[in-house]
Amino acid sequence: MCAHPAATANSKKANRRRVLFNNGGIVRTVSEGLAAVSIEQGVLYVVATPIGNLQDLSPRARQVLGDVDVVFAEDTRVSARLLNHFGIATPLLPFHQHNERRVCPGVVRRLAARQSVALICDAGTPLISDPGYHLVQAVRAAGYKLCSIPGPCAIVASLAVAGLPTDRFVFEGFLPPRRPARRDRLSALRHEQRTLVVYEVPHRVRDCVADMNEVFGADRRVTLARELTKIYEETFAGTLRGLSEWLQEKARVQGEIVMVVAGAAEAVHEHERLRHSVATLLKYLPARQAVAAATEISGANKNQIYRIMLEIASHSVAEDGKREESAGSCNPGEISTN
Ligand code: SAM
Repeated sequence: MCAHPAATANSKKANRRRVLFNNGGIVRTVSEGLAAVSIEQGVLYVVATPIGNLQDLSPRARQVLGDVDVVFAEDTRVSARLLNHFGIATPLLPFHQHNERRVCPGVVRRLAARQSVALICDAGTPLISDPGYHLVQAVRAAGYKLCSIPGPCAIVASLAVAGLPTDRFVFEGFLPPRRPARRDRLSALRHEQRTLVVYEVPHRVRDCVADMNEVFGADRRVTLARELTKIYEETFAGTLRGLSEWLQEKARVQGEIVMVVAGAAEAVHEHERLRHSVATLLKYLPARQAVAAATEISGANKNQIYRIMLEIASHSVAEDGKREESAGSCNPGEISTN
């Protein structure tokens, strides 16, 4: 718990009044309106900031940022604009991916000296595709307290409007920028049944969607959310094929982008699993035995396995005429499905 109960009780009386007291490590309480925030000594506050609309800075975040001894920020120029907007004069110090490990010991020393410290990133929640992981680890290892001040995060903001299942989802951050690595990553996710959330940059989004079309299939559902909470906020919801067309129609794609992709359907997943088993068995056994073994191992219906075997056979024939001979080894005429 970060808030002191007495602070809440006093909050009405102390409306717009700064109350100083020292009780169990709490050095000061700032009360404004009905809410009250207690700033504690030796605590690292991990504070979420807006992903576009400044009004999304929570009152609690605002009070914490105004009341800590120092704020560590990814880009101090970006964060200075935020703090200035809210009339906050707390000193800002840089904390980004290039100095994170170097700065950690100094932050821990500040906590040891009973200072209160906040960590923010340029937009959204620190540590989510942003710096802070090593610092949080270091603060935990040193035994100091952490306090999360939750708020905007593009993952949650996009899921909230995507219209795709939110009961289970996976976040992949940014996919690899280069095509071969990105396709490998997408292939590894092809059978993932949970909703997939990825961040993307505008100059790669068309290529990324083209790869998703190939790997996931053009009919997979997707929502692209762009510039959430900002003036030019927009979303596309449809299939991957539709998204490709929508992106092609645009002269330029700009802004911040999240893609939310539907997970693989369970039936598709099961079919793919069986197909893989049959294909593997066909490498080592004649068709009749491969079908019998796959049926026994999977517990699936023999006709279903037979149809999968036909699918594999026709695919391999179409793909490479030279393989007619091996395709012949799973000649459908050879098997009775009864
Ligand atoms: N820490 C942030 C968070 O909590 O979401 C994410 C930071 S990451 C460096 C930046 C990426 O987040 C962008 O490239 C974009 O994919 C996504 N993003 C951030 N703001 C967004 C917005 N307003 N609309 C859509 N996506 C956004």
